[in-house]
Amino acid sequence: MSVSLPVINEIDITQKRVLIRVDFNVPFQNGEISDDTRIVSALPTIKYALAQKAKVILVSHFGRPKSGQFKKEDSLLTVVSHLADLLKTEVKFTDNLCDLIDSGIALTDDIVWERIKESAFYLINSLKGGDIMMLENIRLNPSETKNGEDLSRELAALADIYVNDAFGAAHRAHSSTAGVAQYVKEGTAVGFLMEKEVTALSKAFHAPKEGYLALLGGSKVSDKINVLKALVTKAEVVLIGGAMAYTFLVAQGHKVGNSRIELDHIGTAKEVLDLAQKYQTQILLPVDHLTAAVFNENESAQYIDATDIPDGLMGLDIGPKTIALYEREIAHAKNLIWNGPMGVFEWAAFAKGTQAMAQAFATSSGYTLVGGGDSVSAIQESGLADAIKHISTGGGASLEFLEGTHLPGIASIQNHPASLKIVQN
Ligand code: AMP
Repeated sequence: MSVSLPVINEIDITQKRVLIRVDFNVPFQNGEISDDTRIVSALPTIKYALAQKAKVILVSHFGRPKSGQFKKEDSLLTVVSHLADLLKTEVKFTDNLCDLIDSGIALTDDIVWERIKESAFYLINSLKGGDIMMLENIRLNPSETKNGEDLSRELAALADIYVNDAFGAAHRAHSSTAGVAQYVKEGTAVGFLMEKEVTALSKAFHAPKEGYLALLGGSKVSDKINVLKALVTKAEVVLIGGAMAYTFLVAQGHKVGNSRIELDHIGTAKEVLDLAQKYQTQILLPVDHLTAAVFNENESAQYIDATDIPDGLMGLDIGPKTIALYEREIAHAKNLIWNGPMGVFEWAAFAKGTQAMAQAFATSSGYTLVGGGDSVSAIQESGLADAIKHISTGGGASLEFLEGTHLPGIASIQNHPASLKIVQN
């Protein structure tokens, strides 16, 4: 996968209506944004477009609104006001649907979208070069996730140019991430965030086998089958932790007590182990564990100094010998990727393994790439983010990229006729 993508600064956007797909699907806690990384990451593209005097129209999804049941929590209203604070400028917003909830009007999907669309056209007409507006949550239109042609055309009609800067949603073939691109007249490009992500992930994707290390954790083998299969053919060493490791240990004939396993994926784990043997890839699994009798935050950790876990206990973190083993591997690696925590890192008693891996990645002299919500949180909570070469804003998208899948959000930009011209020049 090569980086032959037109970037926003390679096309003329001055005074043009530029629809920028961003990923503002930020986490909320108690009604407030708890992590604005995704918004901050999109600022370079937005600021560039404003400085070029483009008429900027932002579009993003937010959560998973239920069809016909619009709620205030589905709205991007709070996100828009946070963006305005960050940019220190007014960000116009399509019809405030939240006010309508109390008015008693039945907010069907059609009514919601008509109001968004009408106010979008009204606002766009008032935009001057250097002004910015945002559409309400695009997933309020059920066509979005179906990549509906009608919605793709309607979005394209709002703009002259389409820019995709939503790496976190690039693995989705939706109207605002893919479909829209083929209908915009003047051209398409990626934003700076997307460019940065693709450059970093391409580097990892093309890394030579020698010195290529993958650290994978998290809850399920089933979520990561494709990436596991891709990585065991390419990496030199794959280190596995988290609940995922127990399904692998069972596949090897070990006892794992009450640990969380996926019975229907023991076969998958065996396939991955066979593939690893075929490609001479070393797979390392935990050799000791921190366990508890019940799955509860207040349980104290019981150390098991063996690969097998006795009945009545469940593995909730990797143990100190596994940490030391993985640290040694990480210290020697040249290209390193990490996705998924080593244990129930949300609970202090079972966070040591994940924290130690974050530290080991931070002190590595190799090219380190971390993707996936939980591993990124672990890195950020440890205050080590600056020591990582690339932190991806897209968990699922980064995994699919590393599998070698062509992401629809990137392919749609590459395939636009106007973009092909730029790439060839
Ligand atoms: P994922 O979303 O697949 O990356 O999984 C992340 C989740 O896996 C986190 O919420 C962890 O608490 C959980 N997890 C990691 N290790 C274990 C384990 N040994 N047992 C149960 N849950 C785990």
